[in-house]
Amino acid sequence: MKIYVKKAWEEFQRVIASLSNEARPEDVFLLIRDWLIKYDKLLLLDGVKEYSLQKYVELNINYYPIRYSSLKGEELTVFKRNVALSHRDLPGIARIIRDTLEQLIIVEADEYCPQCGKYGLGVYQEPHSKQIVLECNQCGYAMYKDKHLYDGKERLLPATEESLQISGYI
Ligand SMILES: [Zn+2]
Repeated sequence: MKIYVKKAWEEFQRVIASLSNEARPEDVFLLIRDWLIKYDKLLLLDGVKEYSLQKYVELNINYYPIRYSSLKGEELTVFKRNVALSHRDLPGIARIIRDTLEQLIIVEADEYCPQCGKYGLGVYQEPHSKQIVLECNQCGYAMYKDKHLYDGKERLLPATEESLQISGYI
Protein backbone atom coordinates (compact mmCIF):
# COMPACT_ATOMS: atom_id res chain seq x y z
CA MET A 1 0.00 0.00 0.00
CA LYS A 2 2.96 2.33 0.58
CA ILE A 3 3.74 2.36 -3.14
CA TYR A 4 0.09 3.04 -3.96
CA VAL A 5 0.02 6.01 -1.57
CA LYS A 6 3.28 7.39 -2.95
CA LYS A 7 2.01 7.05 -6.52
CA ALA A 8 -1.30 8.70 -5.61
CA TRP A 9 0.39 11.64 -3.88
CA GLU A 10 2.87 12.17 -6.72
CA GLU A 11 0.01 12.26 -9.18
CA PHE A 12 -1.87 14.69 -6.93
CA GLN A 13 1.18 16.96 -6.94
CA ARG A 14 1.34 16.71 -10.74
CA VAL A 15 -2.31 17.55 -11.36
CA ILE A 16 -2.29 20.45 -8.89
CA ALA A 17 0.89 21.83 -10.48
CA SER A 18 -0.86 21.68 -13.87
CA LEU A 19 -3.63 24.04 -12.72
CA SER A 20 -3.43 27.50 -14.21
CA ASN A 21 -3.21 30.37 -11.71
CA GLU A 22 -6.50 31.60 -13.18
CA ALA A 23 -8.31 28.30 -12.50
CA ARG A 24 -11.77 28.62 -10.96
CA PRO A 25 -12.63 26.96 -7.63
CA GLU A 26 -14.93 24.59 -9.58
CA ASP A 27 -11.93 23.45 -11.67
CA VAL A 28 -9.92 22.72 -8.52
CA PHE A 29 -12.81 20.77 -7.00
CA LEU A 30 -13.37 18.61 -10.10
CA LEU A 31 -9.69 17.85 -10.38
CA ILE A 32 -9.49 16.68 -6.76
CA ARG A 33 -12.70 14.68 -7.12
CA ASP A 34 -11.43 12.90 -10.24
CA TRP A 35 -8.22 12.09 -8.39
CA LEU A 36 -10.19 10.68 -5.42
CA ILE A 37 -12.29 8.54 -7.75
CA LYS A 38 -9.15 7.21 -9.45
CA TYR A 39 -7.44 6.45 -6.11
CA ASP A 40 -10.59 5.34 -4.29
CA LYS A 41 -8.71 2.65 -2.34
CA LEU A 42 -7.14 5.49 -0.34
CA LEU A 43 -10.56 6.30 1.12
CA LEU A 44 -10.74 2.95 2.90
CA LEU A 45 -7.36 3.11 4.61
CA ASP A 46 -6.87 3.71 8.32
CA GLY A 47 -5.82 7.31 8.77
CA VAL A 48 -8.01 8.38 5.83
CA LYS A 49 -11.43 6.81 6.35
CA GLU A 50 -11.86 8.83 9.56
CA TYR A 51 -12.13 11.95 7.39
CA SER A 52 -15.23 10.65 5.50
CA LEU A 53 -13.98 12.02 2.18
CA GLN A 54 -16.45 9.79 0.33
CA LYS A 55 -19.27 12.27 1.00
CA TYR A 56 -17.45 14.90 -1.08
CA VAL A 57 -17.07 12.53 -4.02
CA GLU A 58 -20.83 11.99 -4.05
CA LEU A 59 -21.90 15.65 -3.98
CA ASN A 60 -23.61 17.15 -7.01
CA ILE A 61 -21.50 20.29 -7.30
CA ASN A 62 -24.28 22.23 -9.03
CA TYR A 63 -26.02 22.57 -5.66
CA TYR A 64 -23.03 23.84 -3.70
CA PRO A 65 -21.53 27.32 -3.44
CA ILE A 66 -18.11 26.38 -4.81
CA ARG A 67 -17.86 29.48 -6.99
CA TYR A 68 -17.90 31.60 -3.80
CA SER A 69 -14.80 29.84 -2.46
CA SER A 70 -11.70 31.87 -1.67
CA LEU A 71 -9.46 29.21 -3.23
CA LYS A 72 -8.43 31.19 -6.32
CA GLY A 73 -5.86 33.78 -7.32
CA GLU A 74 -3.28 34.35 -4.59
CA GLU A 75 -4.68 31.61 -2.32
CA LEU A 76 -4.52 29.14 -5.16
CA THR A 77 -0.88 30.05 -5.81
CA VAL A 78 -0.06 29.45 -2.12
CA PHE A 79 -1.95 26.13 -2.17
CA LYS A 80 -0.07 24.99 -5.29
CA ARG A 81 3.25 25.86 -3.65
CA ASN A 82 2.34 23.98 -0.44
CA VAL A 83 1.35 20.86 -2.35
CA ALA A 84 4.51 20.97 -4.47
CA LEU A 85 6.77 21.26 -1.43
CA SER A 86 5.25 18.68 0.87
CA HIS A 87 6.22 15.07 1.34
CA ARG A 88 3.29 13.70 3.21
CA ASP A 89 2.35 10.64 5.17
CA LEU A 90 -1.13 9.21 4.80
CA PRO A 91 -2.92 11.19 7.54
CA GLY A 92 -1.19 14.33 6.24
CA ILE A 93 -2.54 13.66 2.75
CA ALA A 94 -6.05 13.02 4.08
CA ARG A 95 -5.92 16.27 6.06
CA ILE A 96 -4.83 18.45 3.18
CA ILE A 97 -7.52 16.93 0.92
CA ARG A 98 -10.21 17.37 3.59
CA ASP A 99 -9.16 20.96 4.34
CA THR A 100 -9.07 21.85 0.66
CA LEU A 101 -12.47 20.30 -0.09
CA GLU A 102 -13.96 22.11 2.89
CA GLN A 103 -12.48 25.39 1.73
CA LEU A 104 -14.11 24.77 -1.66
CA ILE A 105 -17.54 23.67 -0.46
CA ILE A 106 -18.25 24.93 3.02
CA VAL A 107 -19.13 28.51 3.78
CA GLU A 108 -17.95 29.88 7.13
CA ALA A 109 -20.29 31.81 9.39
CA ASP A 110 -18.87 34.88 11.16
CA GLU A 111 -19.41 33.44 14.62
CA TYR A 112 -17.31 32.23 17.52
CA CYS A 113 -17.46 28.67 18.82
CA PRO A 114 -19.13 28.75 22.27
CA GLN A 115 -16.97 25.83 23.39
CA CYS A 116 -13.41 26.61 22.25
CA GLY A 117 -13.70 30.21 21.04
CA LYS A 118 -12.53 29.57 17.46
CA TYR A 119 -13.70 32.22 15.01
CA GLY A 120 -15.52 30.97 11.90
CA LEU A 121 -17.94 28.03 12.03
CA GLY A 122 -18.70 25.78 9.07
CA VAL A 123 -22.28 25.99 7.79
CA TYR A 124 -23.86 22.53 7.36
CA GLN A 125 -27.38 21.19 7.11
CA GLU A 126 -29.32 18.18 8.26
CA PRO A 127 -29.96 16.00 5.19
CA HIS A 128 -33.72 15.61 5.73
CA SER A 129 -34.99 18.60 7.67
CA LYS A 130 -32.48 20.85 5.82
CA GLN A 131 -32.07 22.79 9.06
CA ILE A 132 -28.84 24.78 9.22
CA VAL A 133 -26.23 23.57 11.73
CA LEU A 134 -23.01 25.44 12.53
CA GLU A 135 -20.04 23.23 13.34
CA CYS A 136 -16.61 24.06 14.73
CA ASN A 137 -13.83 22.24 12.86
CA GLN A 138 -11.49 22.65 15.81
CA CYS A 139 -13.45 20.98 18.62
CA GLY A 140 -16.48 19.48 16.81
CA TYR A 141 -19.08 21.54 18.69
CA ALA A 142 -22.28 21.85 16.64
CA MET A 143 -25.36 24.01 17.13
CA TYR A 144 -28.45 25.23 15.32
CA LYS A 145 -28.71 28.83 14.16
CA ASP A 146 -30.62 29.69 17.35
CA LYS A 147 -27.59 28.35 19.32
CA HIS A 148 -29.34 25.22 20.61
CA LEU A 149 -26.94 22.30 20.79
CA TYR A 150 -27.19 19.98 17.76
CA ASP A 151 -28.34 16.56 18.92
CA GLY A 152 -26.20 14.74 16.36
CA LYS A 153 -28.75 12.17 15.20
CA GLU A 154 -28.24 12.79 11.49
CA ARG A 155 -24.96 12.95 9.60
CA LEU A 156 -24.45 16.55 8.55
CA LEU A 157 -23.89 17.58 4.95
CA PRO A 158 -22.44 20.84 3.66
CA ALA A 159 -25.21 23.43 3.26
CA THR A 160 -26.45 23.81 -0.32
CA GLU A 161 -26.37 27.14 -2.11
CA GLU A 162 -30.18 27.30 -1.85
CA SER A 163 -30.19 26.76 1.93
CA LEU A 164 -27.39 29.31 2.34
CA GLN A 165 -29.34 31.89 0.35
CA ILE A 166 -32.56 31.25 2.28
CA SER A 167 -30.77 31.56 5.58
CA GLY A 168 -28.79 34.62 4.50
CA TYR A 169 -25.24 33.24 4.59
CA ILE A 170 -24.48 34.16 0.98
ZN1 LIG B 1 -14.87 24.82 18.89
